[in-house]
Amino acid sequence: MKTKALLIDLPRCTGCRGCQVACKQEYKRQAEKTTFFGGPGYQNPADLSAETWCLVTYNEVLVNGRHDWVFGKRQCMHCEVPGCASACPVKALEKLDSGPVIYHREKCIGCRYCMLACPFVVPRFEYETWNPYITKCTMCAHRQVAGGIPACAKACPTGAITFGDREVLIREAEHRIAGNPGGYVHHIYGMEEAGGTCVLHISSVPFEELGYVMRVPRSPMVAHTEPAMKAVPMVMLGLATVLGASYALRTRKQRDNQPAESGHIS
Ligand code: SF4
Ligand code: SF4
Ligand code: SF4
Repeated sequence: MKTKALLIDLPRCTGCRGCQVACKQEYKRQAEKTTFFGGPGYQNPADLSAETWCLVTYNEVLVNGRHDWVFGKRQCMHCEVPGCASACPVKALEKLDSGPVIYHREKCIGCRYCMLACPFVVPRFEYETWNPYITKCTMCAHRQVAGGIPACAKACPTGAITFGDREVLIREAEHRIAGNPGGYVHHIYGMEEAGGTCVLHISSVPFEELGYVMRVPRSPMVAHTEPAMKAVPMVMLGLATVLGASYALRTRKQRDNQPAESGHIS
């Protein structure tokens, strides 16, 4: 089976956030109460969260001596050899041959080792709920099985998100960069990061200027996570689960006792 991927062509992105809204709609995730935080990055909400799996970032960047807005996109990168899956002691995260890294919530014990193991800081925990789970982008695996494409790719009105075979998309990215060398930096983010990912990005400015994680090993994360996981006794995993549940209960109680704060809904 050919591995599928998403190619995010950032210079084509207008920052409309259609992808972000489509993702929320597809998974019926809640709107969040947010406050302005003043950057770097001026997007709203500020970061990925248990409710926001797809985030368009707003970055003010100096381009040819002029301040300009350049947009980025954050979501699970669907690593070829995912650190989250290798760190999970109960196999609640699984890499499919077709590309997506999916989550089996019925297996999850809430230890949150996947959160520590992800080099892109993607998985989130539902601290605010009574029965918390890990959440993250699924690459819309269920839509792919039904012959569709990811909701964010479907919604994008500018063609900034393309879905297809990973090898074909890498060639397409190289073609776009070669055809417009002044319009792109010579870097396909995700081609080698963490051993390669199924979400690929191309950009007009260096990725560090968009806040992308740059200190990612070129080798798969499994080489770093497996030895560490073997050293963790099962009793520690149980303790982590209990502490996580108690934290969720405490934050829920505190929130219920607080008066409504100022802010706005995005
Ligand atoms: S980006 Fe993080 S959560 Fe997504 S597959 Fe890779 S390691 Fe797992
Ligand atoms: S692939 Fe699906 S789950 Fe992932 S960001 Fe796009 S719409 Fe959301
Ligand atoms: S839908 Fe397309 S143009 Fe709009 S924010 Fe998302 S990637 Fe950018």
